[in-house]
Amino acid sequence: MKTIKIDGLIKNNRISTQDLLLEIQEKIKEGYTDFEINACGQHDIGGSSWAKDRDKNLTFTITNPGQRVGAMARKGTTIYVQGSTPADVGWLNSGADIIVKGDCGDTAGHCAASGNIYVSGRVGTRSGALMKFDPKYSKPELWVLKNTGSFSFEFMSGGIAVICGFDCNDIESVLGNRSCVGMVGGIIYVRGPIKGVASCVEIKNLEKDDIDFLNSGMDRFLTAIDKRGLKDTLLNFNEWKKIVPLPIDKRISKTSVKEFREKNWIKGGIFGDFIEDDYKVYPLAATGDGRLQQPIWNKEKCINCKICITNCPQNAINEDFSINKDKCIGCSFCATVCPKLAWEMKDNKKEIN
Ligand code: SF4
Ligand code: SF4
Repeated sequence: MKTIKIDGLIKNNRISTQDLLLEIQEKIKEGYTDFEINACGQHDIGGSSWAKDRDKNLTFTITNPGQRVGAMARKGTTIYVQGSTPADVGWLNSGADIIVKGDCGDTAGHCAASGNIYVSGRVGTRSGALMKFDPKYSKPELWVLKNTGSFSFEFMSGGIAVICGFDCNDIESVLGNRSCVGMVGGIIYVRGPIKGVASCVEIKNLEKDDIDFLNSGMDRFLTAIDKRGLKDTLLNFNEWKKIVPLPIDKRISKTSVKEFREKNWIKGGIFGDFIEDDYKVYPLAATGDGRLQQPIWNKEKCINCKICITNCPQNAINEDFSINKDKCIGCSFCATVCPKLAWEMKDNKKEIN
């Protein structure tokens, strides 16, 4: 193992993120594999060592990092953060082991695709959001000793999260508020009170496979964060639940989009202050009265070149320039190709309510 120490602050001058990352890349090329980085808020440390021909494992021990520690870090990379990290630790983790000996800011493990993230404190808002699983790689895991902020695990589609709820006695929900919105895959193991999870998931008791996983994984986790003494406290399985997405047949919404927008959505839509919205949901390429626009021909401008007729993708323009509205999809191609601007596209929406 060839070790090197790199400072992010030299004679009171902070070096840029880019320079720090370039220096790391240079040292990797020189054969260094073990990095001790005394950072000064530089971003992406440990995550950009994607050299194509890299064949050695890398280890980073980092103090005082900036955002995205270990972002896109690949298998064979081990990162130790000696303290807390700001946002995006392990963003799109692609196989690294990332150990944080403190708290993480928002979006820890966001989009993680593989590898393990072990946190010995809390993680912030939207942590675990968009975690995913590609069967070609091992499942991503996010282990947190304490709790998450709100909106955690939004749109999670794969992987495993373990929220241990340690030291959370005064917290209403160890997953914050509105967690698991849009979750369609993966498992979250959780110990402690949970409140306000989305209706697309179900909270279940553990089964044998779950207990086996937690039993073996907890050893790995507690060893990584140097807290093996907590094992007995954390492995009382009566205190654990798992959260999984509802089966697909139970997730299908019985509310139409129109109904949702009228009853549940902000009145007039999110841009209601600026535009009128008729709440109609239009098909992608409607004909007839459903067209979003209808072409209006101006005889005075027309020079009878017939470019519009031959270019209409729907053959919807008759020889006398009347429109066959059952063919026309309102695409405005006629107006685009006309050299004399003889077609005007009229908003059709208001006429079909
Ligand atoms: S392309 Fe324009 S000018 Fe030519 S026939 Fe069509 S409407 Fe008339
Ligand atoms: S709007 Fe599109 S489909 Fe309709 S007449 Fe013009 S080119 Fe044809």
